[in-house]
Amino acid sequence: SSVSTPIRATLFPGDGIGPEIAESVKQIFQAAEAPIEWEEHYVGTEVDPRTQSFLTWESLESVRRNRVGLKGPMATPIGKGHRSLNLTLRKELNLYANVRPCYSLSGYKTRYDNVDLITIRENTEGEYSGLEHQVVRGVVESIKIITRQASIRVAEYAFHYAKAHGRKRVSAIHKANIMQKTDGLFLKCCREVAEKYPEITYEEVVIDNCCMMLVKNPALFDVLVMPNLYGDIISDLCAGLIGGLGLTPSCNIGEGGIALAEAVHGSAPDIAGKNLANPTALLLSSVSMLRHLDLHDKADRIQNAILDTIAEGKYRTADLGGTSKTTEFTKAIIDHL
Ligand code: NAD
Repeated sequence: SSVSTPIRATLFPGDGIGPEIAESVKQIFQAAEAPIEWEEHYVGTEVDPRTQSFLTWESLESVRRNRVGLKGPMATPIGKGHRSLNLTLRKELNLYANVRPCYSLSGYKTRYDNVDLITIRENTEGEYSGLEHQVVRGVVESIKIITRQASIRVAEYAFHYAKAHGRKRVSAIHKANIMQKTDGLFLKCCREVAEKYPEITYEEVVIDNCCMMLVKNPALFDVLVMPNLYGDIISDLCAGLIGGLGLTPSCNIGEGGIALAEAVHGSAPDIAGKNLANPTALLLSSVSMLRHLDLHDKADRIQNAILDTIAEGKYRTADLGGTSKTTEFTKAIIDHL
């Protein structure tokens, strides 16, 4: 493909700080001459009966067609008769794996300076299947679903990712000593896939021990793959190791190679519209989108400009202890390009 042909990507600016940090991405992509043509979609103000959600059918079609996109945070409107926006996206686009890279940013000091982890979270089942009910008064039940199909799929993604990115080790995180059937099946699937990748070290670590090891020495891990709930918790633990929510990107991988990148954080209503948000998490998410498209030169250039700006320490947003506005920080990154 020619460099001059722009690639279409769907962009959901989202709610709260979403439009402010999406603007930062758009400006930086333009300055870096990233060959992306954004197709912008906004969350609607009424329920689309075809999706039972405030997300329109056209928005979902846009992601299906482009196969690649960037999503700002979405706050789910309160009320009945519609599905959560994030759940709609996950289900409709079958976003089965959530990849959350987490690495130390030089110049921003935390307790660790050697964090370099990839958390890969199963995104469609486990405890998040939404199957909860009351059995009798005072007794409730939540059903955890683990399927062979979803477990093999996420394990395959994890090993494929490890190999493609020159990673050495994949750790399956579990509690199969207690959850023998469910986590047991998850592990069995990981083991099966591991056999096809003899060059990658495979290990199984019980989740409680994993937390202790991560906090003591994050360098003990490389790529971690795990069921939904554990992935939710462990990836936030990892974010805490490097400086918080303003910094951590993610990418949702869906059926047929769809990639929908998004920050880990939410719409931050407390600082929305005040030009205070840190756009780094969404920017690094957009970088992962570029890497998914094999646009590594542009990805490197943008990523380096972000990291150099943070390392320089002159322009930092309030969450990192600075006084810069979103727009000032964005301009500093553009200057570093
Ligand atoms: P949040 O992540 O929006 O905010 C938590 C805290 O972190 C706030 O103090 C906020 O100011 C701060 N923060 C978050 N991102 C920041 C950034 N980029 N720069 C600086 N500070 C930042 O979590 P919340 O308040 O629990 O959720 C708010 C809304 O977002 C809710 O409606 C929730 O459902 C939604 N949400 C959406 C997603 C998503 O779209 N993937 C994820 C989480 C929460």
